[in-house]
Amino acid sequence: MSNRRIEALLERRAELLNELAKKAWLLRGTWAERYSTCMRPNCKCHQGEKHGPRYYLSIARQGKKREVYIRRRHEDLVRKGIAQYQTVDDILLQITEINLELLKEGAYDDDKLS
Ligand SMILES: [Zn+2]
Repeated sequence: MSNRRIEALLERRAELLNELAKKAWLLRGTWAERYSTCMRPNCKCHQGEKHGPRYYLSIARQGKKREVYIRRRHEDLVRKGIAQYQTVDDILLQITEINLELLKEGAYDDDKLS
């Protein structure tokens, strides 16, 4: 067990947790675009020129999916939120690797850190 190595890992983990705190605008979902036909029988949408796209954020949870309608003017914001979530996901993976590394280094063996 190397204290210096453990300290470096803890420092890196603290940095990553700080990064996480900056991602408040995250949106955990995927971007979806839908086209549709309307009720008017003579509308061009029935000849293949469908209405749309309409934007949705698709959110999956415990095997269920829900789609939330997104106003056109919010497109950039929502795309930014989705990108932030990707960053968060990546940070979580990095923290996982650090925690596994800490286990290997014996950092938790004497219950000092847990
Ligand atoms: Zn139509």
